[in-house]
Amino acid sequence: MGQHLIYQCPKCGNIVSLNWGCGMLWHKNDKSILYPHRAEPYEFNIYSYLIPRIRKEVHEYLEKVGDPVVVENVYMQPYKCNKCSKIDSKIYFEIVSPKIGIRNYIPKYYCSCRGTYTKIRPNQKHFYCHLCGTELIEDSEIMWD
Ligand SMILES: [Zn+2]
Ligand SMILES: [Zn+2]
Repeated sequence: MGQHLIYQCPKCGNIVSLNWGCGMLWHKNDKSILYPHRAEPYEFNIYSYLIPRIRKEVHEYLEKVGDPVVVENVYMQPYKCNKCSKIDSKIYFEIVSPKIGIRNYIPKYYCSCRGTYTKIRPNQKHFYCHLCGTELIEDSEIMWD
């Protein structure tokens, strides 16, 4: 179940879309969702949502820690750049290894301005245009599953 909110800047027309939530089939929490599945529709895995750098990091992590691993908390998450305030939605997930001393893998995202993306809290209601600073207005809402 997910929520897709589209905001628009009343001053410069910039459109920002915020995606929250997870796809129906992302609840399968084994590592197979991190690999491409040619025979299956893309909804069965999150591979197609991963940018090349994250794919590389994920597969290096999986190789390093070995089995077993669990993929948890998979959902679309809006992020905001700490430098230019640009808002973008990315896939969030955690790869958890039960082995002692191994840290979970959590993707880190960076903006094209080289700033770092941080998660926007779900209770946040006011968003500002990163181009002109004007408060954005909610334009439409789409629920998806
Ligand atoms: Zn604007
Ligand atoms: Zn930025």
